[in-house]
Amino acid sequence: MVTKTLKLGHIYPRQLNLYGDIGNITALKKRCEWRGIEVEIDNINLGDKIEHHDIYFIGGGQDRQQVEAALELQKYKEFLTEEMHNNSVFLGICGGYQLFGEYYQPHNADRLPGISLLDVYTIAGNKRFIGNVTAKTEFVSPNTLVGFENHSGLTYLRGETKPLAIVITGYGNNGEDKTEGARFKNVFGTYLHGSFLPKNPHFADYLIKLALENKYNEAELAPLDDKLEFDAHSKAIGRKY
Ligand code: GLN
Repeated sequence: MVTKTLKLGHIYPRQLNLYGDIGNITALKKRCEWRGIEVEIDNINLGDKIEHHDIYFIGGGQDRQQVEAALELQKYKEFLTEEMHNNSVFLGICGGYQLFGEYYQPHNADRLPGISLLDVYTIAGNKRFIGNVTAKTEFVSPNTLVGFENHSGLTYLRGETKPLAIVITGYGNNGEDKTEGARFKNVFGTYLHGSFLPKNPHFADYLIKLALENKYNEAELAPLDDKLEFDAHSKAIGRKY
C-alpha cells in the first residue's frame, strides 16, 4: 500500500507564532501520523522561497512582527493565489489570518498589504477583544468550534468569502456582525488561538481530508480515540474567561 504524504508549510514561524499557535502544526502532524500518513514539515522563514505545499499554516503575531511578514509575503502573492486555485489548504490564525486579506491597518502605522486570498480587510479598533470564544460552524460535526481570542483588529468580510462560524460566546471578527473567521475555497482564517486545532480535532481532520482529497482524490481517515480532545472541547464551550 502506498504511504500517503502531505507537505506542510509553516510560514514565518519566527515572526508569527503567538500563544502557542505551533500547536496547530503539532495537531496536524500527529493526527496524520496516527493514521500512517507521513507529514513533511517545512519551516518557511523570511528570505526562503515558498514552493508548493499541500497545507500552509501561518500563526498570529503582534503588529511589529506582522510588518516583516507582510512585506515578505507580498513577493509570493501571485504564487500563493495560484496555490489557492489549485485547492491547497491554508489556515491562518489572527495576525496571519489578517494577512490573508486585502490589508491590515494598524494603529498609527502604515497600512500592511495582504495577499488577498480572502476577500476581507482589517482595521485596528480601539478595544482589545480578549477571552474565550464558542462559535457554530456549518463545515464540521459537532458544529462547535472553541478557542481563545486576543486581538484589536476588526475584520470585515466581502464578496464570496464566507464566515468560518457564527459567534455564540465572544467577539469574533469585529464584535458587531457575529461572524468569526472566514473561508474561501480551501483557505481558512480564524481568530481562535488556544491553540485552535488540538481542541477542535474534528476541524483538524476536516483540513487533512481536504488536503488528501485534493492530492489523492480520496479522503478516508480512520477514527481516533478523541475522548481527551473532546473533553477539552466540551469544557471550553460557553466559557467566557
Ligand atoms: N496584531 C493583530 C491584532 O491585534 C493580531 C494579534 C494576534 O495575532 N493575536 O489584531
